[in-house]
Amino acid sequence: MTDKPSYNSSSMNCFGKCGYRYKLQYMEKRRGLGNYFTLKGNGTHKARERNFTQKITSGVDLPLGDCTDAAWDEILTQIADDQIDLKSDELRGKSKTAVANLIYKDTSPLVERDHDALYHLTQPLYVEQRIAIELPDEEFNLYGTLDLIDTDYRVGDAKTSKKKLSPSNIENGLQMTLYWFLAQVWLGRPVPGGYFDFIYTGKHVTATRIPWTRTIDDVVKVLARFRSMHDSIKAGNFNPAPEGSWWCCPRWCRFYHECPFV
Ligand code: SF4
Repeated sequence: MTDKPSYNSSSMNCFGKCGYRYKLQYMEKRRGLGNYFTLKGNGTHKARERNFTQKITSGVDLPLGDCTDAAWDEILTQIADDQIDLKSDELRGKSKTAVANLIYKDTSPLVERDHDALYHLTQPLYVEQRIAIELPDEEFNLYGTLDLIDTDYRVGDAKTSKKKLSPSNIENGLQMTLYWFLAQVWLGRPVPGGYFDFIYTGKHVTATRIPWTRTIDDVVKVLARFRSMHDSIKAGNFNPAPEGSWWCCPRWCRFYHECPFV
């Protein structure tokens, strides 16, 4: 791989929201801390990862208890490693044990719904597959870690959120376009599309699969966006988030407490 910069969909998403945050996270390699919400998502993701990794060869899903155990292990690990902001609103004043129990209590229903509704729909071929590709005609390269590619060469991804998603969010999403492009290049064969497994974390937890497809025209547009981002970075433009942005708050920005702009 060349020494050109490499971008992924998260870096694009971050830069689009706040250039200063991008600089801290991707250029200065500062990690920041997670919170109640990120850890619920990570726990649900870890349960999937454990299940689908073994399913490549076994062809069967793990019992629910093994999947919630995977979520519990992830929650304990991140808390023990001090990766979670214990001063955030939902966790302030609680011991690490109480935090772990609270987050597990709220994560296990998500794992259960996901396990029962969606796991059985997927037979994975690759899980947590990192794909990096060189773009000889660009000043940057691209990469991504795909949750999974199934035996029909469809790309699978999952997200937990309290905010309802509409199919149009998925149809136009940059991340899916990038994953489709990466998978095609890496596999060296056509990829029919993929699906987005959405676990809604509102009062009544639901798990829904939203299919998507992409064309090369979508890739052309995404490459134009990466080119624009690259030009801004080269020019040293790292502007803070616009005033009033919903993501510029302690809950959604890991650097809020040290940011000179707020
Ligand atoms: S607090 Fe706001 S301006 Fe500061 S890094 Fe975070 S998103 Fe950007």
